[in-house]
Amino acid sequence: MKKGSTAAVLLTLGLLCSCSADSGSVSHTDSMESESRDVFAMDTYMNLKAYGENAGGALSAAQERILELEAELSVTDENSDIYRLNSSAGERVQVSEDTARVLSAAVRYGELTGGMLDITLYPVLRAWGFTTQEYRIPGGDELSELLKNVDYSRVDADGVSAAIPEDFMVDLGSVAKGYTSDAVMETMRENGVDSAIISLGGNVQALGSKPDGSPWRVAVRDPFYPDSDMCVLEIEDCAVITSGNYERYFVGGDGNTYWHIIDPADGYPADNGVVSATIVGKSGLMCDALSTAMFVAGEDRAAEFWKSSIDDPELDFEMILVTDDGRILYTEGLEDGFTSAGTMPAEVIERG
Ligand code: ADP
Ligand code: MG
Repeated sequence: MKKGSTAAVLLTLGLLCSCSADSGSVSHTDSMESESRDVFAMDTYMNLKAYGENAGGALSAAQERILELEAELSVTDENSDIYRLNSSAGERVQVSEDTARVLSAAVRYGELTGGMLDITLYPVLRAWGFTTQEYRIPGGDELSELLKNVDYSRVDADGVSAAIPEDFMVDLGSVAKGYTSDAVMETMRENGVDSAIISLGGNVQALGSKPDGSPWRVAVRDPFYPDSDMCVLEIEDCAVITSGNYERYFVGGDGNTYWHIIDPADGYPADNGVVSATIVGKSGLMCDALSTAMFVAGEDRAAEFWKSSIDDPELDFEMILVTDDGRILYTEGLEDGFTSAGTMPAEVIERG
């Protein structure tokens, strides 16, 4: 292991990140005044916890912000920006600042990941029934036909409006929760809170450290036994976001399991050897985008992507992958705050 680079990464994480996430629950070991709120939005159970005098007010403001973003970004709500964009028949539509920002960022992460993240996959997701839960296995020809209308680079968003070609559809399911958790952190700060932790369906983001100054402890789920944890991370001021094949799937008439993260290369559920990808970093949006993309990438391409991102300020992240043969791989910047919780062997990915 290269000591210098590890220290650099840890320094970054130390400054930016120190969340400890339980994929879905937050501990209650504190003396300072705190409040907790459950919210159901974006088809997701969310829990928000804030500390300090204005915790209650901050939580109400955060809840309102979540509902505002849901109304803008939903793919099914007929009044949302995204619904209007998808039914615009190629015309340019006015969108909110939030929507424009998420669209532009998602296109950028599409570019950075060589198209492994592609927000225009919606017609393919529909063909599999992931949008309605009426699952089916589309034929190869059908998928090839649909993929002709899939290409993130055709999404054209500026600060106030957006356009997509006719027959294209976008869906922000891969990034909306990450953007939302960034927005909640911002709202907490604006409301005088500097210690908070939230879980949006298991995706965790922390503001600051625990009130006593110690890092948050965040557990990451075992994809093979989603009721158990596979590891615990110590973090501050960062997001821990996971994409896993256990989150939404169905078993086809052929006995095979099909999950909701699609490889844009062929339109089939991504099956490149990774069953869960967890990204740790300062931006929830980046972590959400990359969790989906690194799940698609698979072990080798994901490790390469992380290594090649070392000097890229747009891609400052750490990662935990679980392989389909039951190994945990985590990047060396996480080493100090990582504790294994299950029986899977864990290896460190080094910058090399
Ligand atoms: P989750 O929302 O389950 O936490 P993700 O952040 O990985 O998981 O987002 C998965 C969602 O993103 C899918 O439900 C689908 O709507 C959409 N999606 C699936 N594959 C891709 C992909 N390769 N690029 C962009 N979006 C995708
Ligand atoms: Mg994601």
